Amino acid sequence: MSLSIKAQTLVELEKKYGAQNYAPLPVVLSRGLGAKVWDVDGKEYLDFLSAYSAVNQGHCHPKIIKALTDQAAKLTLTSRAFYNDQLGPYEKWICNVFGYERLLPANSGVEAVETAIKLTRKWGYEVKKIPQDQAKIIVVEGNFHGRTLGVISASTDPDSRTNFGPLMPGFQVIPYNDILMLEIALRDPHVAGFLVEPIQGEAGVKVPDVGYLRRAYDLCKRSNVLFVADEVQTGLARTGRMFACDYESVKPDVLIVGKALSGGVLPVSGVFASHEIMLTIKPGQHGSTFGGNPLACVVARAAIEVIIEEHLIERAAKLGEIFRAELKSLNSPIVKEVRGKGLLNAVEIIPHGKNAKGELKTAYDLCHELLDLGVLAKQTHTHTIRFAPPLVISDEDLELGLKAIKSVLTQL
Ligand code: PLP
Repeated sequence: MSLSIKAQTLVELEKKYGAQNYAPLPVVLSRGLGAKVWDVDGKEYLDFLSAYSAVNQGHCHPKIIKALTDQAAKLTLTSRAFYNDQLGPYEKWICNVFGYERLLPANSGVEAVETAIKLTRKWGYEVKKIPQDQAKIIVVEGNFHGRTLGVISASTDPDSRTNFGPLMPGFQVIPYNDILMLEIALRDPHVAGFLVEPIQGEAGVKVPDVGYLRRAYDLCKRSNVLFVADEVQTGLARTGRMFACDYESVKPDVLIVGKALSGGVLPVSGVFASHEIMLTIKPGQHGSTFGGNPLACVVARAAIEVIIEEHLIERAAKLGEIFRAELKSLNSPIVKEVRGKGLLNAVEIIPHGKNAKGELKTAYDLCHELLDLGVLAKQTHTHTIRFAPPLVISDEDLELGLKAIKSVLTQL
């Protein structure tokens, strides 16, 4: 698709003045509502990415925007040097809703993951009594927890790690979905935690075997190791449960939430844990200027209320079934697999046909074709496209999106 002069000018500005750490699809968006977004030339698209599952409640949800603007006119930031009138009530409310004793509020997803890692280590030294500087955290191959130095030290993705060293020690990587390897790794008495995404999002929506999370949790309990779940992408109704761990009735010792915690309105994240774990961190030992700001508190509360009031958990579960069933029934020879839970899904394709450069078409090429048909989706790795529309998408818009996706997946 060729860009208008207006759109091209905006793209050029990013290309000329911005760091080039992203490769966006060629579309310049200026407005969004619900599951729809519009580009600078007024063309309408269905959003099948939801800002990587941050916009579960739909773009510019009126209730969340009202909470934002009302609070923005009163008080936005106090820092944690003082109390504010929103943080305590928000902490009480959200801990109640999610069934936890305490919340440590943060901003981005990766900041919450870093916080969880620090918390796990602190608990390891002060409660489990692991000898100084010996604490280990078990992670899995193909993980994605963000981009900070600590977090990329746990990554197995060469792009994330190359030339960013020296990296941080203290992680042991085992295969994902491999309970035996976890059992062996847990024999080490210096293990403080097992950090895992209940469904691997960035890896291409990899869903583990039924029973994996439950067995992993039970093994962690047996070894006095914290089960730390990164639900930044899978959490908050996306997979058809409030949290993906709910599918196996697993309540993580440390729960990491971000993205849709603000409905995509602000960077708001948080770490949930028990008194015993959370209170190992004392005043001055961890913090952030913006974490727990009053604006974030009211926005997050409104965002969670929307999930509950609009039955988005049930909606994601129901629409997800339809989405997968329709794509599976295509029996397309270019589709290797359709997988996912709720409205977090992926289609893995078999390279086929030829793109403009005369090469076999990859997921990237299909995302371009979808863009032309008015559907926004993004590849993850070379052969996989993730589909994660806002959970408020109407039945009709889901069908429209599916029609475009099917037409792209059936061409040979
Ligand atoms: N954890 C998971 C599972 C994610 O998918 C992501 C982002 O995609 C992150 C952490 C990092 O979140 P953020 O980009 O808000 O730092």
